[in-house]
Amino acid sequence: MMNFPLTTVSILKHVETEYGNRELVSYCEQDSVFRYNYVEFSQRVRQLANSLISKGIKKGDRVATLAWNTHRHMELYYAISGIGAICHTINPRYSMDQIRYIVKHAGDKALYFDGDFLAIAAMLHSANLGVEHFTCLANDKASTEEFTFMVYDEELQSQTTDFVWPELDENTNAGLCYTSGTTGNPKGVLYTHRSICLHSLVSSHSENLDIESQDVVCPIVPMFHVNAWGLPYSVPLFGASMVFAGANMQPEKLYKILDDEAVTYIAGVPTILSALLGHMESKQMKPKALHKLLVGGAAPNSTFIEKFEQNFSIDVLHGWGMTETSPVATLCKLKPHLKEELTIGEQLALKNKQGRKLYGVELKLVNTDGSLVPHDGKSYGDLLVRGAWVSERYYGSETSSSNQDGWFATGDIATIDENNYLQIVDRSKDVIKSGGEWISSVELENIAATMPEVQQAAVIGAFHPKWDERPLMLLVTSPDVQVSKEEVKQFLQDKIPSWWMPDDFVFVKSLPIGATGKIQKRDLRDKYQNALVDSLP
Ligand code: ADP
Repeated sequence: MMNFPLTTVSILKHVETEYGNRELVSYCEQDSVFRYNYVEFSQRVRQLANSLISKGIKKGDRVATLAWNTHRHMELYYAISGIGAICHTINPRYSMDQIRYIVKHAGDKALYFDGDFLAIAAMLHSANLGVEHFTCLANDKASTEEFTFMVYDEELQSQTTDFVWPELDENTNAGLCYTSGTTGNPKGVLYTHRSICLHSLVSSHSENLDIESQDVVCPIVPMFHVNAWGLPYSVPLFGASMVFAGANMQPEKLYKILDDEAVTYIAGVPTILSALLGHMESKQMKPKALHKLLVGGAAPNSTFIEKFEQNFSIDVLHGWGMTETSPVATLCKLKPHLKEELTIGEQLALKNKQGRKLYGVELKLVNTDGSLVPHDGKSYGDLLVRGAWVSERYYGSETSSSNQDGWFATGDIATIDENNYLQIVDRSKDVIKSGGEWISSVELENIAATMPEVQQAAVIGAFHPKWDERPLMLLVTSPDVQVSKEEVKQFLQDKIPSWWMPDDFVFVKSLPIGATGKIQKRDLRDKYQNALVDSLP
């Protein structure tokens, strides 16, 4: 066979010729809306490629972005990787210290930032970390009292739309994303052109994400974290239109955009989508064309899928993955025989699981001694993964992050059932080890969150002199609602094994949320680890 390199440019060329008139819509600074199609998009990507070359950006250089989901961010994805450089997306929600660390560690040569992140850009400029070029993506906030930065659209306008893409080997690095570093410093995961293309091809398939050319997809999941689950590559591959919501993450604004733009498909984490669901419930309406939804990044609560499906006729697909797995590794599509055999209630319960592995990925559940855990849907084990888009080693590391047999330990505890459906039980550092038995903090949280008065719940293992750890539940209740510990206990009583009952409950105003939108259990453990001991007589 011919050697036809799988590169991001191959996706760009394909969408330009095959689906050139499909639209991209981008909500940008000051509520401006930018509309164009894939032909015009490709022209601007080539202008950007010329601009990058004129700045001296070369193959292998890291070019950083600090940006919302916009058409400009999408152009950067393609132009940077297309010239053989590496598109390093930085999560602006990281602390200044973490961002400084990441930029230095990555050795970024240029930075493209949205106006909302001007202060971070100014800090990086002053810190002198080796970044040579700073460009503001938005047209309105490119200067501080000290600095005036280049403006993206002006840079593009000075360039021609002609560009000859270099021939790249498909194993060339194309993207870089740092994990949130809940333990130690953030670690960089490099994606190659090949891994991106394979991930896009498999994930978008009708048995998986089911992205079709008539879809209008809005990736609510941010492009600054794990390539927005690969959607900037997998959506154009099959010619679907794209809507970029910019900084508009509030449910009212998001709803309006999805409705106005007739979005058919959205993807996001449970927190943002639950807020959207709440808004839809209060209006008793859904964005008019919306009928497909992908949720992942954390477990949705047990009523999430049911409400979207039953009340709003939106098909929900639940997936699991991590920065190290590009990220889509499993998706919860029902096998044909299960659609026939299971009741609607049973199907909904199954859809709450994280699903089955995609072609190109393999999963394994093991005990602490490395022995295999049976696929019975009940036995807990450490989840290992390997595959064509699973990271082998972290950026800058000499050693592999996999074990000697080539499996990567995910840090998740899971079960796998007889039909190969994976269920994430907990992060291994969050699971509560009570007297040698394990209690899933995630399951307790999900059940507590179904109590009408409860907005959010988090469970940690607090130190206990007899059992090592016992569950402690922190609760955020709806405003102006009074609920007692006894009432929560009563609610949980017949829904959980008796020995899972938390030893204590703490009512808090809010829970600490990290850069990727997840509850920071480490902060809670730091604060409440000794809460049960302190309260002992
Ligand atoms: P980080 O939060 O450290 O940035 P990732 O964004 O890569 O890391 O998140 C990966 C982790 O998120 C997984 O290992 C898993 O614990 C959790 N996760 C992802 N998807 C799901 C899901 N659908 N259900 C439960 N947990 C999930």
